[in-house]
Amino acid sequence: MDFALPPEIDDYRIRIRAFVKKHVIPVETHQGNYDEHDNIRHDLLEDLRTKAKNAGLWALQMPKEFGGQGLNVAGMAPCYEEMNRSIFGPVCFNSAAPDDGNMIVLNKIGTKAQKERWLQPIIDGEVRSSFAMTEPAPGSGSDPSAMLTTAEKKGNTWVVNGRKWFITGAGEAQHFILIARTSDHTRKGLSAFLFDADQPGWEILRRIPIMGPEEHGGHCEILFNGLEIPDENRLMDVGDGLKVAQIRLGTARLTHCMRWTGMAKRALEETLDYVAERKAFGEKLADHEGVQWLLGEAAMQIEIGRLLTMRAAVKLDSGDFARKEVSMAKVVVSETLHKAIDTAIQLRGARGYSKDTPLEWMYRYARQARLVDGSSETHKMVLSRYLLSEGIDFWSWD
Ligand SMILES: Cc1cc2nc3c(=O)[nH]c(=O)nc-3n(C[C@H](O)[C@H](O)[C@H](O)COP(=O)(O)OP(=O)(O)OC[C@H]3O[C@@H](n4cnc5c(N)ncnc54)[C@H](O)[C@@H]3O)c2cc1C
Repeated sequence: MDFALPPEIDDYRIRIRAFVKKHVIPVETHQGNYDEHDNIRHDLLEDLRTKAKNAGLWALQMPKEFGGQGLNVAGMAPCYEEMNRSIFGPVCFNSAAPDDGNMIVLNKIGTKAQKERWLQPIIDGEVRSSFAMTEPAPGSGSDPSAMLTTAEKKGNTWVVNGRKWFITGAGEAQHFILIARTSDHTRKGLSAFLFDADQPGWEILRRIPIMGPEEHGGHCEILFNGLEIPDENRLMDVGDGLKVAQIRLGTARLTHCMRWTGMAKRALEETLDYVAERKAFGEKLADHEGVQWLLGEAAMQIEIGRLLTMRAAVKLDSGDFARKEVSMAKVVVSETLHKAIDTAIQLRGARGYSKDTPLEWMYRYARQARLVDGSSETHKMVLSRYLLSEGIDFWSWD
């Protein structure tokens, strides 16, 4: 077992750290650099994206022949962690959700023609994308089998009707991946499709206001009213919708973990100078045992999360779905993120609660981590199912 990073991956990591420090973190510090939804202003983003491309740090997760850097999942982990040392980081490198997960799944399962038409423009940064699965109750949420949006075959075309919501980025996306019901079959009842924002037959009902900062394009509620999708824009086979979702979500959940680990580290970093200098009751804060326990606990949980993430990454790279490993990483890292930021706010005192530091931005953002891509409870349900069927072999080595 070797925990050392390959030199070429460490080189990417070091260069990303330097890029984020020099170009991205300074942008966070002026309120005028934010758009009306608390994200980075578009003109500044485009400038940083050009700089990342020129620095050879663009689309790490994509094959070199498509303009990416060809990193495997284990290679992405330390790099994504460095990107999210800044709250604006990942999107500057084309490694933010949902484009990141959409690119990875299209690269894995798309036909050559589908990759040219739908994937390449996302890699190039020419268009943004969305993944549309979740529906208002009583439709698909934690349980995709409740899906109500239908795609009905008419000749060589699928006609889509239904409603989705919380679709990240939909307000700006051009390319959409859609999961819809194509039959009543229990396991093979869903199929996956691609559509373009310019096609008629769908509309955004509203951009749902949320607690935290928003991805570009927001989180939208969408109505499908006779959207026509040619059969050539179907992903994999009819009935493979759940499989497409699993393939997408497996890696997407893990790249969330990589980015969230970077954010949790940054939250702690925001406290370090303060606790080392600020005095209370005759001692520096860092010299109080109570403070040491808070910091030690947070540092330890972050390390646990990144080890789980790396283990799942290695397993995904081996061709395994890594369902247990991804679920464990997702629960631990999302909950660690929330707790680490909470600890950081506590230790910064009143200023931690202000907009003088990025901590309050992170805190509002972090709450979604325990819900998106499967709540902690549903991942624990999956883990308990594995435990009940595998017994003590639940814990195994590769
Ligand atoms: C900011 C944000 C962005 C999102 N982006 C997207 C996107 O781009 N595309 C998309 O398709 N969806 C997106 N979603 C939706 C997200 O994936 C769903 O919210 C999530 O899958 C949960 O579904 P739900 O909201 O319907 O919750 P429900 O299914 O109604 O569940 C509610 C709660 O019930 C509990 N629960 C559910 N099942 C169990 C169980 N088996 N055991 C114990 N407790 C359980 C959990 O606490 C859960 O949080 C986004 C959501 C948010 C908040």
